[in-house]
Amino acid sequence: MTTRVKPWLEPHPHGLYVKPADLWIDPSRPVERAAVTHGHADHARSGHGAVFATPETLAIVALRYGVDAAASHNQAFPYGDGFERGGVRFSFHPAGHVLGSAQIAMEYRGERIVVTGDYKRRPDPTCAPFEVVPCDIFITEATFGLPVFRHPPTVDEIAKLIGAVRAEPDRSVLVGAYALGKAQRVIAELRAAGWNAPIYIHGALERMCDLYAVHGVDLGELRLVSEADKAEMAGQIVLAPPSALHDRWSRRLPDPVTAMASGWMRVRQRARQRMIELPLVISDHADWDELIATIEEVNPKESWITHGSEEGLLRWCELTQRKARALHLVGRDLEEEA
Ligand SMILES: [Zn+2]
Ligand SMILES: [Zn+2]
Repeated sequence: MTTRVKPWLEPHPHGLYVKPADLWIDPSRPVERAAVTHGHADHARSGHGAVFATPETLAIVALRYGVDAAASHNQAFPYGDGFERGGVRFSFHPAGHVLGSAQIAMEYRGERIVVTGDYKRRPDPTCAPFEVVPCDIFITEATFGLPVFRHPPTVDEIAKLIGAVRAEPDRSVLVGAYALGKAQRVIAELRAAGWNAPIYIHGALERMCDLYAVHGVDLGELRLVSEADKAEMAGQIVLAPPSALHDRWSRRLPDPVTAMASGWMRVRQRARQRMIELPLVISDHADWDELIATIEEVNPKESWITHGSEEGLLRWCELTQRKARALHLVGRDLEEEA
């Protein structure tokens, strides 16, 4: 079902343009003014004139791109807070995806539009939980917008990981986890499950883990693989970015069992292709049930669907007589951060 495009919010392939405010949301190319939902590279790019985001997202952007988050042209807004520009009232609300991730709500002439960015609904010890914001138009991601994607309980996947380490005390278990969000969440979930041993990390994860700790997320004792003896890592958990799993770097580890934490691990063939012995279905994106539960709860007049399997969710909206359309934005990276 196609619907009339709102004249004040224009979807373009490279982002959403808020016309009266002359501002873009998550643009994939440099613009004068950008409101950014969260720090993943497919949402936060470098080179914008001014960035409007949560304080945590600005800190993440500063770390990744070396820009000064405190620069006067950037503005930080804690959850619940916002600004007005060109008659549009903007506000930031938790999305439950990664530290600092926000939904951006906009109100203009009595109409409210919410852009979710990426989100999930299940508890995550590293970030504030998703907030339901009632609205007229709900712009939702759909990374896992097909009924085949149902993420198992996170505690079960963490128990699987701990079980694998204990089963082979002479080996280490090497978990591939995206550097922003997934790595810290896996660590925090391990701590919540009672894993108190030091956790070993690849150097590429160090600064983001430090940033999380500075923002109050307790990750326990982390040690750098580069500073550890091979022998001490036997029977221990090691985290690295997915790209390092089969790299020369992993030879420093004692006969590692290769694991990966991603929603895509639900697809056996993906796990096989990436030579993953221990697939862990741990995702920072809503699964199919969470996506439809969220649309039901928000109950908007219209849903705009983007970032993934638009067609599956669009079909569900049609079947349940909900007004919906697909937005095809370019440059969304569905692989690494899922
Ligand atoms: Zn993301
Ligand atoms: Zn994304």
